[in-house]
Amino acid sequence: MDDFKEDLKNIDKKRLYQSLFVLFLLITIPVGVRLAGQVQVFTPKAQTSDNIQALTNQLLEAKKDYTEVDILERIGIGADTKANLTKMTGAAAARKAALLKEAETDPKSFLDHATLADQRSDFPAPVQPLLEEKRQTLGELTVLHADDFEKKVSKFFYKLKEGENLYNVSFTGEAPEVLSGSIVEVTGISLDKEIVAGGGEPQPIPTPPPFRVHFPIQPIVEGTTGIQKTVVLLVNFDNDRSEPVSAEEIRQIMFGQTGNSAFTYYKENSFSKTYFQGDVFGWFTIPGTADCRYWDWTTQAEKAASDSGINISSYPRRVYVFPTTNCPYGGMGTIGGNPSMSWIYLPEREGVYLHELGHNLGVHHANNLFCNPQCYESEYGDPYEVMGYNIYGGNFYHFNAPHKEALHWLPPHKIQIASGSATYRIFNEEEVLTGPQALKIFKPDTLEFYFVSFRKATGFDKTLPQEVTNGAAIHLWNENPFRQTVLIDAA
Ligand SMILES: [Zn+2]
Repeated sequence: MDDFKEDLKNIDKKRLYQSLFVLFLLITIPVGVRLAGQVQVFTPKAQTSDNIQALTNQLLEAKKDYTEVDILERIGIGADTKANLTKMTGAAAARKAALLKEAETDPKSFLDHATLADQRSDFPAPVQPLLEEKRQTLGELTVLHADDFEKKVSKFFYKLKEGENLYNVSFTGEAPEVLSGSIVEVTGISLDKEIVAGGGEPQPIPTPPPFRVHFPIQPIVEGTTGIQKTVVLLVNFDNDRSEPVSAEEIRQIMFGQTGNSAFTYYKENSFSKTYFQGDVFGWFTIPGTADCRYWDWTTQAEKAASDSGINISSYPRRVYVFPTTNCPYGGMGTIGGNPSMSWIYLPEREGVYLHELGHNLGVHHANNLFCNPQCYESEYGDPYEVMGYNIYGGNFYHFNAPHKEALHWLPPHKIQIASGSATYRIFNEEEVLTGPQALKIFKPDTLEFYFVSFRKATGFDKTLPQEVTNGAAIHLWNENPFRQTVLIDAA
């Protein structure tokens, strides 16, 4: 094995170019540091912090006045507690509004300033609903992923359904890597419909964890093959009734049996294992809002569809098309989920549909390793994959080998695992062929795998540049669908 590793280090990568169709295991270990794919950077907001602190101080002052006056009143000296209660309620309401804003934009700051949970019961009853509280709750988590393709940034949102209650959940550290629909237990600080989980990382019991996942830690993607029964709802607003694409055009984008469509794309990518089929309804018109209230819109759209006799619950995959610029994203999609949900804000862009459906099936992005001279991981950086930046042009290239493994399109017998220094033969990854279509090499220091694959200019890959089809592509991935694949060498 040591010899094998030594071989990997020493062999000249250029020899990979020797064959178009037969690849030899001659791989150099790339030099570079894999950095976290998505780093949430919060700019300091001293003003907001000061403001919330000042509001907390005002509230505590008002409480002190109230308590003192209340004592006087109780011993019969006579004083007006009502005025002080009004003052306290006003201070608590202003503080609550500021904290709720913080929960959305900067959860860590929310936790830093939500300091009154332990004192909640000391406040008079009318004030208590305006204050944060500790909450441990068990519910179904919806994992939403939002894509800003222009800025090349993406963001996760979480919603937790506990009975009839729906909470927005934020995590200050690492969020649970679970598919949409998983049951999780979240311990955090709540205010109204917001819950912020402190710490953010799973901690060993008996320390109360910020979340406990009742689900395998590494999710297994399921339901990715067979007919994917999908409903598409076209929705506009009473203050903007534009219909930039017709229902017929969207029917072609989603279900067209020829040309570029989600049907043809996923059929070819999956080696005829996965078919998107379904119906397109709309346009439905719902009340317009000034901001991106996609969740409310979804509820209203489904109601409008149900009212017109459509049985939404019979569709395990749902796509909502909103031609709006009120959302700062091109699209959003749940990671997995039954039903899975996609929100399309750029209705004319076929690639956005393909990308969000990829999230719905259960995978994250295709990144690349960018070195100049220091290496970092670039979100969406793989230009040869629709889960990367290959969505705006007319070319929608194939899923990469790791993603095809994740979605069960390349089953174990189609993936060769390198067991030592040897010559391995793999075939291109686009067509139904006999023999292995990817090679996996374990990387023990990071518990990841190098995936070696070969791309051929055929089908949806027919316009791949020659520098890609001339040799092997190498991706790095740890087999967790919540982790991006990283292209480290395209040829
Ligand atoms: Zn995405």
